[in-house]
Amino acid sequence: MFKKILIANRGEIACRIARTARRMGIVPVAVYSDADAQALHVRVHEQALRIGTGPASDSYLAIERIVDAAKKSGAEAIHPGYGFLSENALFAQACADAGLVFIGPSVEAIRVMGSKSAAKAIVAKHEVPLVPGYYGEEQSPAFLAQQAQAIGMPILIKATAGGGGRGMRIVRRIEEFAGALASAQREAQSAFADPRVLLEKYVEAPRHIEVQVFGDSHGNVVHLFERDCSLQRRHQKVIEEAPAVQLSDAQREVLYRSAIAAAKSIRYTGAGTVEFVIAGDGSVYFIEMNTRLQVEHPVTEMITGLDLVEWQLRIAAGEPLPLTQDRILQRGHAVEVRLYAEDPAQDFKPSIGRIRNLRLPPPSPTVRVDAGVESGDGITPFYDAMFAKLIAVGSDREQALQTMAAALGETALTGVVTNVDYLQRIVTHPAYLAGGFTTHFVDEHREALNAPAAPPTREELLFAACTVLARRGGGDTPWQRRDHFRLNHDYLETLRLRAGDAEFVLELAHRRDGLAITVDGRTSLVTARELQGDRLWLVADGERARASVFTDEAGVHVLHDGRYRGFVVFDPMHAAEEDSTATGSLTAPMPGAITAVMVEVGEHVRRGAPLVMLEAMKIEHTIVAPFDGVVTEIRYAKGEQVAQEGAELIKLEPRAGEAAK
Ligand code: ADP
Ligand code: ADP
Ligand code: MG
Repeated sequence: MFKKILIANRGEIACRIARTARRMGIVPVAVYSDADAQALHVRVHEQALRIGTGPASDSYLAIERIVDAAKKSGAEAIHPGYGFLSENALFAQACADAGLVFIGPSVEAIRVMGSKSAAKAIVAKHEVPLVPGYYGEEQSPAFLAQQAQAIGMPILIKATAGGGGRGMRIVRRIEEFAGALASAQREAQSAFADPRVLLEKYVEAPRHIEVQVFGDSHGNVVHLFERDCSLQRRHQKVIEEAPAVQLSDAQREVLYRSAIAAAKSIRYTGAGTVEFVIAGDGSVYFIEMNTRLQVEHPVTEMITGLDLVEWQLRIAAGEPLPLTQDRILQRGHAVEVRLYAEDPAQDFKPSIGRIRNLRLPPPSPTVRVDAGVESGDGITPFYDAMFAKLIAVGSDREQALQTMAAALGETALTGVVTNVDYLQRIVTHPAYLAGGFTTHFVDEHREALNAPAAPPTREELLFAACTVLARRGGGDTPWQRRDHFRLNHDYLETLRLRAGDAEFVLELAHRRDGLAITVDGRTSLVTARELQGDRLWLVADGERARASVFTDEAGVHVLHDGRYRGFVVFDPMHAAEEDSTATGSLTAPMPGAITAVMVEVGEHVRRGAPLVMLEAMKIEHTIVAPFDGVVTEIRYAKGEQVAQEGAELIKLEPRAGEAAK
């Protein structure tokens, strides 16, 4: 076995791989970019090497620097994690050339499976069912249009080299094909440096089911059952579970047999995932194979009791598969949610900033927390905004989901916006609880999932008020004293709390029989309150209740009954500052790279005309003219980085006589 390995990744996965390495007596070494110099994955390693600046192209994607770092550190092998260089055949080759073991499959397997077209061509020869489509070399628009017509609408155009849900376009009418093709090719070129595409019949509302496989260098291949990753947003997984429910034995048989056949077709070694879609009529179709550890591998670990990273390390070191197929068993049900620093209310715009206070559920036998950050850490614009994963396990699906809902209810952070509440809405939605949903789930339930937050409950307000009192002057003592002082009088004060747009005025009366809190015309009597660490106990109107609470510069935070609620303790003195009037949209919505400039200085544009495109966090944003006008200045050229959110990208003068101030 290796003595030392280098982990060519960051965030939660770098931390997670290091845990297994250490348990096996292997020393893990980290690498980091300047943006990550203070990151958790660096802090948890005894040895960490700088490999470059923030942009991934200059650090986590810089093959030579990573190989050099590995050699310098004395590591014998490199674990690539997921994303970044994990499916890069050149990287695997560079490792081999430098005498380092790449912890993953062969260069050849990565190359073949890295092309969705080549993958289909090879697995088709092994009785793996494919979605009807075109996956050949010929790429001329006219030829592809012909193929599209032959396959029949709707069509899905995919980047051959694609990943992470990028470079895909659905075409429902042949007239839209040419435009969609051009745009898919452009995105494929910019994201994967390869404009080639393939065409697939678009399967309406499919399920996404994938099979975990492992192969060793002795020719053995096994599967570790399936995962259901149908809960997606824009073709990207959000929640995954194992096993998949509502599958027939016949479907499982096709899935496992095809997955093993696909792996064997390329003499696969290491961890791989064979992905399928299942159509409404129950047909199973192969879509691609991922030649790496998957983000969602923990759900498989939870139901099999196996450590997939350990298996990867053993196989890379030349050992045979630890278990034969008949010894691999599954028990119970597991579900994983991906926690993202993003704002569901703003079309999931990544939320860049510093995490002030991070509350994650305590790990337990039924709740696993794979985190890449701690309180005080930053979410940088350079990388994926996923900062942690929660995994819940139960004896059945219902129990696993109940545990997940409770775990999400104990999760809160301040400083950046997250999808925690959005995830909570999903895992408690009746259609989700029913199981067997399709990849269209979030679109179909858009209204319920994006509805404005329910107003704070009375309990939440009481908890918030009592937290403010307890924290003031450092603990409860002054209050007991004051209660005593005012023995014969009620001591009155007003507390103003704001949650979102809603403001609440609470009248607090410190009376002999307790603390009377009046809000919305109703009075509750708090007869006991006790704060222990961040646990607040209250007896209000005779009922005992408990919440987790904390306070920081942002206000008071209450976690009660499976929900997080943040309150601003409202101070009229500062009200004016918060009201920044919306500016025009000629500024960068977030830091990113300019991918296209569509206009020139002096050009007259009409309202709505696209001006520049900015790519950030896997999403292309088009900045359009907010009014008719003349372009007077272009501040960034194509390819340039915009470092600051809000940076002005382009200057537009309203045309004389119109829309002038
Ligand atoms: P998986 O297939 O492992 O569940 P996805 O398909 O949702 O994960 O996304 C995986 C791909 O998304 C990666 O191969 C990579 O391209 C990108 N990706 C995901 N997370 C990160 C990350 N933290 N850093 C960089 N890229 C990432
Ligand atoms: P990526 O490499 O980006 O993960 P995939 O080929 O795995 O690309 O597709 C990503 C997602 O897009 C799938 O999980 C599925 O939801 C959807 N998808 C892929 N192919 C099809 C198809 N032919 N019909 C309908 N949906 C599809
Ligand atoms: Mg995929």
